[in-house]
Amino acid sequence: MTTRLLVIEDDPILGEGLKTGLQKAGYSVDLADRLDAANAVLARRHQPAAILLDLGLPDGDGLKFLKTLRRDGQSVPVMIVTASAQREMRLEGLDSGADDYVTKPYDLDEVTARTRALLRRSWGMAADFVQFGPYELDLNGQVVRAGERSVLLTQREFRVLSLLTSRIGRWVSKPDIEYAVYEDAADIESNTIETAVYGLRKKLGAEVILTARGLGYMVRR
Ligand code: CA
Repeated sequence: MTTRLLVIEDDPILGEGLKTGLQKAGYSVDLADRLDAANAVLARRHQPAAILLDLGLPDGDGLKFLKTLRRDGQSVPVMIVTASAQREMRLEGLDSGADDYVTKPYDLDEVTARTRALLRRSWGMAADFVQFGPYELDLNGQVVRAGERSVLLTQREFRVLSLLTSRIGRWVSKPDIEYAVYEDAADIESNTIETAVYGLRKKLGAEVILTARGLGYMVRR
């Protein structure tokens, strides 16, 4: 799923490793090495779809951070990623409002798979596929299927389409797409989204993505 994640990890090697691994899996990642940096990310208009949280951080305790988040009514899914394998810590983490718990050293593929499962649960999806019209988007294979036909998407087309299908039946504004799809909005050329939409329409049919001035783009069920 094309989605922004927030990774809170102060160890630069682990943090960069997680960021790179999750980016390879198709996510956009904000990496915060302190809680104040994490709070700065959360203060933005667009919230991350999930948070990966280390517990021992230079400016505070990840568990307290999580408790505060939940007390403030933030329901964003949180996966604790920490060295504490002790049962008590694990239970306290889950009691504090964590949705999952992974202990270091971890397998990057496992963290990625668990992140995917976490997002799926939060979106209420049962599988790695999204249906729209006569099509099925394979979120793992970056492929759209229509009956026997398989249509391979570019990375950008995939990111745009997975965002639109995650909000199926609703308009998504161009800035929201740009923000969700690209790592650094400043790097986007002004026609990048249009180019991806053009490519998708060419491959799947013009009617697959609706456009309305001032509203943005929509994929219908
Ligand atoms: Ca740490």
